[in-house]
Parts: sequence; structure tokens; C-alpha cells
Amino acid sequence: MVVHTDFNMLSVLQFAVEVLKVKHVIVCGHYGCGGIRTAMSRRDLGLINKWLLHIKDVYRFHAQELDSIEDEQLRVDRLVELNVMEQVHHLSDISFVQRAWRDHQRPMLHGWIYDINTGYLKDLIKVDPSKHAHDIYEYDF
Ligand SMILES: [Zn+2]
Repeated sequence: MVVHTDFNMLSVLQFAVEVLKVKHVIVCGHYGCGGIRTAMSRRDLGLINKWLLHIKDVYRFHAQELDSIEDEQLRVDRLVELNVMEQVHHLSDISFVQRAWRDHQRPMLHGWIYDINTGYLKDLIKVDPSKHAHDIYEYDF
């Protein structure tokens, strides 16, 4: 998850982008994810509910598509994909990522899915530095 108020993730990411100067950042989900499945349920898990709310939001953004998928496993796996894409977009919304794009034309952002059954990775989405975040997320430096 790329949650904008998660200072642990943001600190690690800023260190990677600004100090280590990484060229690629990968968000990797996996099919059959229990976290995604739980977010799709009404289970009350206390504090964990707060984190899963971010996934429930992704479900709501795509409810029409997801509700039309009858098979539960396929619906879980599609939400796995949509969630990874959403998290990659969150990366592109971060000001220091946008600054690195402007100044260094990196990092490339990737969204992958790992299929535990086959061992294959699915290359789902790529966001390169020439692309821009949605207008509302773009910063003037
Ligand atoms: Zn999982």
C-alpha cells in the first residue's frame, strides 16, 4: 500500500529516490491475496480495519466492474490488480517523485502482480517520468 500519511513508507521511498537514486520503484501485489479478500468482506479485525479501508476505497472506485464479476476468486484477483494500479498512481502523486522526474528523469514506476501458482510476474502498469500525475495532484516547483 502507498498511503500518503505513511511516514515509514515515505521515508524509505524518499531515501531510495533522493539518496540511493534508484531508477525503478515496483509495487508488487499477488493473486489470491488474503488482505484483499478480507477487505472485500465485512469482517471486523479492529485496528486492521483502518488499513483495509484503503482497499475498500479502491473497490468503491471500481464497484461497477467488480460487482459484475460473479466468481469470487476472479473478483479478488481483479481487485488485486486494480489496487496495484491505484498504489502506483499514489506514487506518482508524491511531490519528491515528481521532483525527481523533473530533475533526473527517474524513477520509472511499475505495478506487478506475482502469481503464486505459476511463479510468473505480470507486468501490469508502467508510469515513466514523461507522464504526469492527474492535474489535481501535480505540483509547481
Ligand atoms: Zn497478500
